[in-house]
Parts: sequence; C-alpha cells; structure tokens
Amino acid sequence: MTLAIGVDVGGTKVAAGVVDEDGQILAKLKRSTPAASPARTEQTIADVVTELLAGHNVGAIGLGAAGFVDSARATMLFAPNLAWRDEPLKQRVEERLGRDVLVENDANASAWAEARFGAARGYLDLMLVALGTGIGASIIIGGELYRGRWGIAGEPGHIRVVPDGRLCGCGNRGCWEQYCSGNALVAEAREFARRTPEGAMRLLQLGGGRAEGISGPEITRAAVEGDPAALRCFQIVGGWLGQGLADLAAILDPACFVIGGGVSEAGDLLLDPARATFEHALTGRGYRPLAEIKAAQLGEDAGIVGAADLARTGMLQTTAPSSPSSEPPGPGSFIRSTSTANPVTNAATAQNAAIPETDQPATVATTR
Ligand SMILES: [Zn+2]
Repeated sequence: MTLAIGVDVGGTKVAAGVVDEDGQILAKLKRSTPAASPARTEQTIADVVTELLAGHNVGAIGLGAAGFVDSARATMLFAPNLAWRDEPLKQRVEERLGRDVLVENDANASAWAEARFGAARGYLDLMLVALGTGIGASIIIGGELYRGRWGIAGEPGHIRVVPDGRLCGCGNRGCWEQYCSGNALVAEAREFARRTPEGAMRLLQLGGGRAEGISGPEITRAAVEGDPAALRCFQIVGGWLGQGLADLAAILDPACFVIGGGVSEAGDLLLDPARATFEHALTGRGYRPLAEIKAAQLGEDAGIVGAADLARTGMLQTTAPSSPSSEPPGPGSFIRSTSTANPVTNAATAQNAAIPETDQPATVATTR
C-alpha cells in the first residue's frame, strides 16, 4: 500500500492529508494561508508536509493549488486569492522539502478525486463545477484531465451569460458566476430580504434581523425547512446552473456533471431546478441521452485526496509501469487509462514545443 500526501492550498487555508490507495485520509492537518507572501505560503506547505512525513512512510506528494498552473505543472501563473504571479511553486517547495512534488490546479485535483473515489466514479467523460465565491471547474475527457494548451482550461465562470449584466471581479459584465455561485445565492437572498422583508421573515430571523446577516448556511437551512423565500433563491441559482450546464454540454457532451462547493450541500434543492432547466435548455433534447447532474461526495477533502492520488499515480507511472493486461477491472481501468494516455500527453507537449515563440500567451501578460 503506497501512501501519498495531498495538500489543498487555498486562499484562506492550507489543508494536508496522508491518503491511501483507496482515497481514505489517514491523518490530516490544517493551517491558515499567509496568502500575501508567496515565501511564507510555501513554508507553510513545507511545514505541514514535514509534520505528516514524520508519522508516515509516504511515496509521493501532490499539491492542489488555487490558481492558474502552467502547462509544465511547475509555475503558478496567477492566483486570484494568493500573491502568486509567475511563482515557481514546484521548485520552491521541492527546495524546502528535498523531495519531488506534483503541482496541479485545485479544481482539477477535486475532479480527479470525485472521478476516482466519489460521485463520478466509473465515468470517463465528466466535468466538475464547484460553486463557491465564484465557479471552479475542471474537465476530464477519456479519463484524462484536460488542461488546455496553457494549463488554464476549465474557467466557465467567466462565460458571459447576460449582456451588460452584473459586474464581475474579472472586470467584465454578466459572467455566469455572478448568477450561479455561493455568492450569487447570498446576493439573491439579501436582495429579496431588502425588497420584500415581509416575505423573508425566516431568512431575516436566521440572519440576526438584517439582510446583510444572511449567508449560505442560513439559506440552506431555511430551504430545508421549506421556507418559500429560500427555496426561491435555490430555484433561481439552480436555474442558472442548469442553463450553463446545457451550454457546456453543447461543447463537451460529458456523461456526468459533478456539482461541488458549499452550495451543493443543499443537494436536490439546488440540483432539481438545475436538472429541470438543463433538460429544457439542452439542444436536441429528447433525441440524446441526458448527462447526469450529481452532488459531489467528498466535500472539502476532495482537493487533498485528488492531489495525493495524482502524485501517487504519477509516481507509479515513472517508477513501476504496470502491464495493462495484469491490472484488475473496476477502478484499475481508470489508472490504466491514465497510463496509456501518458504518451499522448508527451506528444502534445512535444508538438506544442515546436510552436514558434510568437505563440506565447500575450494575453497572460495583460491578465496580470
Ligand atoms: Zn468574470
């Protein structure tokens, strides 16, 4: 049994765990992120890993980091909630630890975990859509994470769904995540409570009497109780979710959408309106199979489990390539698909390396 450490590096916390081959977490640590300082963030990562290494014999270490990871999976190009700008994260953490680490985007790590051990187990074509402050997302095609040419694929939160709509943190207007996220749910509830306080009595009561006191868990609680105002908020956000998933299905045609993030804890209160809108909005409805829309199962541990499993799988590929014919069916088929796809990844990298310098992403410079 090869153990691996997965570290979930977010804007507010660094969470790390020792994970076994079945995706079970054997030990776990959490620290707050010194997000303003790249060096202190890297030291915090090294500290939690060192502490976990002291008690366990670990074969591989993976980081799931909240930001744009470059296609070499070494440098953090940009992070909205951390001070990373062209930060060589892999190198900096390896220097501190004296060991190899794998770096992956946090949503990619979560999607991998859900596909291997969670809600999307058994699916090879899927998409994770996590609703939090904004929308985090990840695409898995044919059992492989799809990263795009520059490593930045899977940011559907900034597809503009309303012309000249709500202002987004990215500077544009009408982005999907302004209508479909944890923040959007809260904004919907607060606005309703301000506009129609007599219809939002329960929400206001849970919010301490003020619209500004209403947050996500209160809305979920009121909705579970059957409060019409809270249910209406989930109808609206769920509707935007289904609408956006139908658009994504038009491009990717996945078998399954896994919905994560705090909002997904409301389960079918969110997913039923999403499914209804999805079915209604889907092009060619009635003449094609419907993708499943499922709630994520691994919760906040998904990033840890996925980063660890990606690191462990990567290590197995480089140190002990196994014969596909000797692998067991079931979950093993997932691992097998990743190892067979490895040459594809290398071929793609070689192909990209042949592209002239002018193909470098000028847009990245303007993003910063
Ligand atoms: Zn945006």
